[in-house]
Amino acid sequence: DIVQHMPPPACYGGRHTVTLIPGDGIGPELMLHLREVFRHAHVPVDFEEHSLCGETNKDSEEVEGAIMAVKRNGVALKGNIHTDLENLKHVAAKSMNVQLRVGLDVFANVIRCKSIPGVKTRHEDIDIAIIRENTEGEYSSLEHENVDGVVESLKIITEKRSMRIAEYAFNYAIKHGRKKVTAIHKANIMKLGDGLFLNSCRAVAARYPEIEFNDLIVDNCCMQLVSKPQQFDVMVMPNLYGNIIGNIGCGLVGGPGIVPGQNVGEDYAIFETATRNTGKTIAGRNLANPTATLLAGALLLDHLGLDSYAKAIRRATIRTLTEERIHTPDLGGQASTSDVVQHVISLVDKTQLTSQ
Ligand code: ADP
Ligand code: MG
Repeated sequence: DIVQHMPPPACYGGRHTVTLIPGDGIGPELMLHLREVFRHAHVPVDFEEHSLCGETNKDSEEVEGAIMAVKRNGVALKGNIHTDLENLKHVAAKSMNVQLRVGLDVFANVIRCKSIPGVKTRHEDIDIAIIRENTEGEYSSLEHENVDGVVESLKIITEKRSMRIAEYAFNYAIKHGRKKVTAIHKANIMKLGDGLFLNSCRAVAARYPEIEFNDLIVDNCCMQLVSKPQQFDVMVMPNLYGNIIGNIGCGLVGGPGIVPGQNVGEDYAIFETATRNTGKTIAGRNLANPTATLLAGALLLDHLGLDSYAKAIRRATIRTLTEERIHTPDLGGQASTSDVVQHVISLVDKTQLTSQ
C-alpha cells in the first residue's frame, strides 16, 4: 500500500506542519479563507508558507526551495501557479506546477467527481474516481524545433510508470469498495505509447479478478461521459487525457469551484483543487467559490489522520451547499466567497469537536 510507505508527516508537540503554496489568481484569497476556517475549528496544523509566483518568479531555485520544504514536511496544500501562455517560444519556462509534481514524484492525481444534492446539474447520481498519471506522458516538457516550422513534442510512456498508476487504480478500487476500473487511451492511433499504457493496465487487471476491467478510447469516453456518466466507476489514464477527462468530470458535478484533488506518491502528498485553476479573471473580487479549496483542506486532514476535524469541515462545507444553498455566482447564486466561508465557520463553531 502506497500510503503506508509514506514517512510520517512533520509533527511537533501534537501539531502538524504543512507547506502552503498559495499560488496565483484566486489562490491566495482562498488560502486565507481556509486558514480562517481551520482556526475556528482549532485544527492543530501550522502552515509554512512558500510563495511561488508564475508571473515574476522565473528562478528554478525558488521551485527547488519549495520542493525541499515539501520534502521536509511531507505534505502541501497549494493553489495553482500561473503558467505563461504569451511567451510560447521560451522552452525553458516549464510550468512550476509540473516541476513540483515531477520533483516530488507525486505520480497519482486522484479526483472524485460526485454529484452533490443541492447543486443543480444536467446529470444526477454521478460518482466517478478519476486517476491520472501525473509525471510523464504529454507533460514531459520535451519539445524541440530541429528545422524551422517543424516541432517535435515527445510524449513519454514507460512500462514502469504505467504499471505503477494501474496498480494504484486497482488498489484504490479495492480500498474504496469500487467494482470497476476503466482504462482510457488512444491506442488505436498511438499504438506503441498508449498501447504500452493499455497493456500495463491489462496486466495489472489480471491480478485483480474481483474488479471488473474494461477500456475505452478517449474520444468515445468523452461522448459517453456527457451522455451517460453514471456508467463510470474508477477511471485510469495517462496525463493529458486525465487533464481533459478531469475537467469534464468536474463540469458534470458543478464546475471548477467544487471538486478537490490530491496528488500522491510513495513519499509525499499535495492537495489542491481538482481543475487547478488560477481564476485570474475573478481574483480579488470576492466571487470565487471556496468549496473545492475547503474540501482539499479536508482531504489534507484525512491524510494527517485528523479525522474529526476533516469530518467537521467537510460536513459544514457540504451543508452550506446542499441545505442552506449559499451559492456563489458560478453556481447561479448571489453569495460572495466570504458569505459562504462565514456560513461554513458558523456551522463549524456549532459542531462539538471531539479531541484527537
Ligand atoms: P482564468 O485564469 O482565465 O480566470 P481559469 O482557467 O483559471 O481561468 O479558470 C477557468 C474558469 O473557471 C474561469 O472562468 C474561472 O473564472 C472559473 N473558475 C475557476 N475557479 C473558480 C472558482 N473557485 N469559483 C468560481 N469560478 C472559478
Ligand atoms: Mg487557467
